[in-house]
Amino acid sequence: MTLKELKPGQEAVITAVGGDGALRQHFLDMGVIPGATVRMMKYAPLGDPVELWLHGYALTLRKADAAEITITMTDGTAPEKTVDNAGRTSNGDSVPEVDDLPYSASLHEHNPHPGFGEEGIFHDKDQGQELPKGTILTFALVGNQNSGKTTLFNQMTGSNQHVGNFPGVTVDRKDGVIKGLPDTLVTDLPGIYSLSPYSSEERISRQVILQEKPKGIIDIVDASNIERNLYLTMQLMELDIPMVLALNMMDEVRNNGGSIRINEMERLLGIPVVPISAAKDEGIDELIDHAVHIARHQEVNPRPDFCGKDDAGGAVHRCLHSIRHLIEDHAARAGIPVRFAASKLVEQDADILEALQLDENEKETLEHILVQMENERGLDRAAAMADMRFSFIQRLCARTVVKPRESKEYRRSKRIDRILTGKWTALPIFIAVMCAVIWLSIDTFGAPLQDALDRGIGWLADRCAQQMEALEVNSTVQSLVLDGIFNGVGSVLSFIPIIVLLFFFLSLIEDSGYMARIAFVTDKLLRKIGLSGRSIVPLLIGFGCSVPATMATRTLPSARDRLKTILLTPFMSCSAKIPIYAFFASAFFPGHGGQILIALYLIGILVGVLIAFIAKCLGRKSEAAPFVMELPNYRLPRIQNVAHLLWDKTKDFITRAFTVIFIATIVIWFLQSFNFRFDLVDDPGQSILAWLSGLLAPVFKPIGLGDWRIVTAFISGFLAKESVVSTLEVLNVTAALTTLTAIPILLFSLLYTPCVAAIAAVRRELGMRWALFVVLFQCLVAWLCAGAGYLIASLFL
Ligand code: GDP
Ligand code: MG
Repeated sequence: MTLKELKPGQEAVITAVGGDGALRQHFLDMGVIPGATVRMMKYAPLGDPVELWLHGYALTLRKADAAEITITMTDGTAPEKTVDNAGRTSNGDSVPEVDDLPYSASLHEHNPHPGFGEEGIFHDKDQGQELPKGTILTFALVGNQNSGKTTLFNQMTGSNQHVGNFPGVTVDRKDGVIKGLPDTLVTDLPGIYSLSPYSSEERISRQVILQEKPKGIIDIVDASNIERNLYLTMQLMELDIPMVLALNMMDEVRNNGGSIRINEMERLLGIPVVPISAAKDEGIDELIDHAVHIARHQEVNPRPDFCGKDDAGGAVHRCLHSIRHLIEDHAARAGIPVRFAASKLVEQDADILEALQLDENEKETLEHILVQMENERGLDRAAAMADMRFSFIQRLCARTVVKPRESKEYRRSKRIDRILTGKWTALPIFIAVMCAVIWLSIDTFGAPLQDALDRGIGWLADRCAQQMEALEVNSTVQSLVLDGIFNGVGSVLSFIPIIVLLFFFLSLIEDSGYMARIAFVTDKLLRKIGLSGRSIVPLLIGFGCSVPATMATRTLPSARDRLKTILLTPFMSCSAKIPIYAFFASAFFPGHGGQILIALYLIGILVGVLIAFIAKCLGRKSEAAPFVMELPNYRLPRIQNVAHLLWDKTKDFITRAFTVIFIATIVIWFLQSFNFRFDLVDDPGQSILAWLSGLLAPVFKPIGLGDWRIVTAFISGFLAKESVVSTLEVLNVTAALTTLTAIPILLFSLLYTPCVAAIAAVRRELGMRWALFVVLFQCLVAWLCAGAGYLIASLFL
């Protein structure tokens, strides 16, 4: 029987995991291993994917993938290998030995936390190689998604952070200096589940750790979901980098009657474990102390490995050790920690295999060792490895964790999910939420704020004009300041509230855990156009800005999905286009701003979907990319996190307004104020700009936009979409426009090439060819749609 046939509410034990390659590895890494108990929670509203419960967390996968997993039903009696709520393995036999260190105290005994390392249990200060004074202590902050990394990062660094990119790739990189410790640097890595190169984020995190060689790792673990989270910890500990374990969400664990024996866990793992609550600011100072200590003294964890000598016959243990001896010199040469390399070879990691440059003999020996282990263990290599890690985790948890029965947060999430992912309610609510987000940020709250800001800027412009008049400033300079800067940059700046609000709502959706549900609910629909539910995240972010949306596609494991999602993102109208819509709506469709806006958003989506659908029909038939994802509990997003994000966005936007947009405005003002002899012209029609744009104007004539000034606006929009409006303002073109021209302008602006920044992001992800393709393709689509709009409109107007 396979997992696909399991009905909601039923429970079973996994007996075998089929499939192959990276997906299978990912299944194993997520805890889908032979011997694990799964419960079917529910089907998605459209019948696919399904939600499962295993290792204490909710996982979704598609039915097609579930069909690869063989199970046997449990008949109510305890399955072979689970950990009960008190944290003990349930098959009754004695808990396997975790370590030979003494184990005595009862699970509920309260012990003070003695301060690890400083006691010198595992570290001999005399032999410790303390780093020279002044060395920058670099830390990598690593953890699962939603384990609280961002929260912890913000708490640790306060405002001492800067955002950048990881070298060579475009995933947001946040670096920050720990408050009060100037010679430290913490890097927030993307959330990952394992160090297998399944998604690009895992690849990146791994590369950063292996290549940048941080002085310490801060591994953040969600204590309310400890088994799954520790799986990554096991792999991080193989890296021979000093490490502290931050057990986050301890407030939730305590409130639900759970507790964790920290000292015991420290002793069993061999690294400092610090209970914290990032959101409640508890334990963070202690965490920092420990992190700095282990990094400064380079205290690497002394445990050689976690494969028990007698664990399931010890086959995995022997195998790992043989491989380690085999590859020791190769690993040293390649600069890869040998323990890590050995584990990855067992998991058939192609990257590591290549980096090690084993010769044919060694490869053969490796294969012999692996086959021998498989025969002895009765499991294939990857499953045996995952099983070894999860067995250790279960034994560890059995001795250290008192699990809460069922957390309040989980019960609450289940209740919320009854509605938000309910069969009949899920899709209507999703659509309602998206409409509400757009409506609230643009109409209800955004518009009045924007008005106020606009008036403020207008007032400032008037004062400036008076001052310059009084001081008898040269009229060209006056024109530059008033027509160029205030009109151009000012009109764009006033849109800050709307754009920030849009990001605010999107971040609420993401942080609360609803984004994952949206992916769960819409997966089946998106598959109809050849995408997966995970693509919904970048697409929704695309309503904010295409640049982070393009970056967000990094979470997609399949290259094909990533390509398609990136190409589809420009159809999600980005927030920089809002000024254009608002400008035309208020001029030509007064009172219908809201409808125009929604219509444009919908047209963008529809055109995108249509194109994706055509591409799917034309393209080769291929397997759908897998969809395996955790559904986190709903959580109230933290104000500080959201505030940080909004501040970043505002800063970013203001910087853009005063750099790209400012320069574009000045260049356009200059080109339209002067002719080729650099004389000031009275009639902009005689200017350099008129001549330049005139060259392109014939292309736009058939769609009713032959005016050179409109063409200019489009060109400047390529630098930044907001400039379309500022250019129209500078060129004083409003009077010449009609409703009949407004419609094709709106459609063209909606669909034509994304701005330079977005194209640069596409180029970094997909290369120059695709970037050029996006520019040309979007312009073509925009031209066609604007033309169609113009034809239809001219029938009625
Ligand atoms: P990331 O995905 O790892 O960056 O996780 P975030 O920092 O975004 O946190 C995910 C969610 O967990 C947010 O809603 C946080 O407010 C919440 N959270 C983080 N730390 C804690 C904690 O210590 N206790 C509780 N109760 N919630 C937390
Ligand atoms: Mg985060």
